[in-house]
Amino acid sequence: MTSDFLVIGCGVAGLSFAIKAAAHGSVTVLTKNKVLNSNTAWAQGGISAVLPEGLCDEGDTIEKHIADTLDAGAGLCDEEVVRTIIEEASDTIDELVGWGTKFDRSDDRFSLGKEGGHSARRILHAKDTTGHEIASALLETARNTPRLTILEDHFAIDLITTGKLGSVTEDRVLGAYVLQQLTGEVRVMRSDRILLATGGCGKAYLYTTNPDSATGDGVAMAWRAGASIANMEFVQFHPTCFYNPAANGPEARSFLVSEAVRGEGATLLNEKGEDFTPSYDKRGSLAPRDIVARAIDTEIKKTGANCVYLDVTHKPKGYMAERFPFIYKTLLEFGHDAEQSPIPIVPAAHYQCGGVVASPEGTTSIRGLYAIGEVACTGLHGANRLASNSLLEGNVMARRALSDILRRFPPGKNSPAPPIPDWEHGDTAPPDELVNIYHNWDELRRTMWDYVSIVRTNKRLRRAGFRLRNLHREVREFYWGYRVNADILELRNLVAVASLIIDCAIRRKESRGIHYTLDFPERHQHYQHDTIMRRF
Ligand SMILES: Cc1cc2nc3c(=O)[nH]c(=O)nc-3n(C[C@H](O)[C@H](O)[C@H](O)COP(=O)(O)OP(=O)(O)OC[C@H]3O[C@@H](n4cnc5c(N)ncnc54)[C@H](O)[C@@H]3O)c2cc1C
Repeated sequence: MTSDFLVIGCGVAGLSFAIKAAAHGSVTVLTKNKVLNSNTAWAQGGISAVLPEGLCDEGDTIEKHIADTLDAGAGLCDEEVVRTIIEEASDTIDELVGWGTKFDRSDDRFSLGKEGGHSARRILHAKDTTGHEIASALLETARNTPRLTILEDHFAIDLITTGKLGSVTEDRVLGAYVLQQLTGEVRVMRSDRILLATGGCGKAYLYTTNPDSATGDGVAMAWRAGASIANMEFVQFHPTCFYNPAANGPEARSFLVSEAVRGEGATLLNEKGEDFTPSYDKRGSLAPRDIVARAIDTEIKKTGANCVYLDVTHKPKGYMAERFPFIYKTLLEFGHDAEQSPIPIVPAAHYQCGGVVASPEGTTSIRGLYAIGEVACTGLHGANRLASNSLLEGNVMARRALSDILRRFPPGKNSPAPPIPDWEHGDTAPPDELVNIYHNWDELRRTMWDYVSIVRTNKRLRRAGFRLRNLHREVREFYWGYRVNADILELRNLVAVASLIIDCAIRRKESRGIHYTLDFPERHQHYQHDTIMRRF
């Protein structure tokens, strides 16, 4: 199967690119799950944008949004990229509205929320299910767009490049090996223009706010294909994930209580009912996420408690049901009434700030391979992402990547491709080996949680690295020995991504942004640039 554009990923980044690209050629969009199984569809809080004067918060400016983003990024943002993306935010909102997204309004204007790290109200939202609203509007548009095909349950295994086929004089993409999960068949999908939009890697950790699909496949595939990867040590932990020890199933374990709840006045309390956050930062509960997550982690370790609490009980009755209906209803389903008693919460892995090194146009170190959205490291987030900047980045970058591709690789002008070998299947894994796969999944995620999470030390990182080397060996045996399936492929990708997180973390000899190490507790001691991993 050949298409002008092959898009791997069906979240905000992949779909907004695909809708626009279909005006210029045939587009195939792959998703390894069903279409609404993405970080995008799970996003709650909203999308940040400074709207034109008269529509934005009084006194808010693009310069302030840029300053807040740079402040959160702790000296590692690329200022030019930040400016470019933020200046295009208002146009992006127009585009999303044009595709049918319905943001909340009051008095005929968009109602704007506030989140941690933002100095003004500038978050457009659709109640507390903004991501679902955006994803549904994009899907509806995509389904009505000619020349655009979405293939569900199609798992991209690896990129095919001239370099991988042995060329030493050029390295460009030719396509991907794709597992059709319903039949078990692996097909070659050809394209000279591939967009990686596979999202993040929250599933590398035991506790995460991400859906099961977030296994870092794009970073792992790009790394195996020879692309450069950067800043993987910067994994953002969301401070407020519902703590539910009786959890049954991933949704119950990963339920996020949006930052917007704190933006609207909720406070964080310890077991004694005291607001402990002002002793960690003068902004209290509204300090940036890394500071709040570390404060909670420290408080939990100091007191030996299992969790801390997010208190909204002072709000008028009915407030939660009106402003945050999805969160309120879901918590009720888990047996907790947020209007009656404070919500038990813990921090959890949430967002991957690093990723495949990509220019402000989404180009990577491999010709024809573009990376946008959470999988990419463009320089917008630096050492820590400002809340609600990622849906924005995904949509803006889609536009920028497409105009670059059209200029450099216009559809219809394909380069001759060398013959691509068919996929070779291994044998079926016996059931006792399957147990090992699940065991390795658990071991990996617990190792990352215990040794590579909010507070790090070189000793813990090295210990994790040692365990990862063993897992590498075992996973290689599964991968080459048995017929591939989604579990083996995701485990293989998680091991690759977890190793990159550890390697990057060990290389960073300072605490910066969301990388905090007790070996260098003074922040920004030695100025370090991006942690770039290259393959030779
Ligand atoms: C609970 C939660 C709340 C959030 N709230 C906000 C918020 O309020 N504001 C904000 O800006 N951001 C928020 N974020 C972050 C934001 O949602 C994501 O960063 C953003 O949606 C990522 O979009 P994406 O298109 O890059 O990836 P995703 O939306 O994650 O999409 C990735 C796609 O790639 C597919 N895929 C992955 N691997 C493969 C493979 N091997 N083969 C085929 N397909 C593959 C997946 O199936 C999926 O379709 C939140 C995230 C979570 C988890």
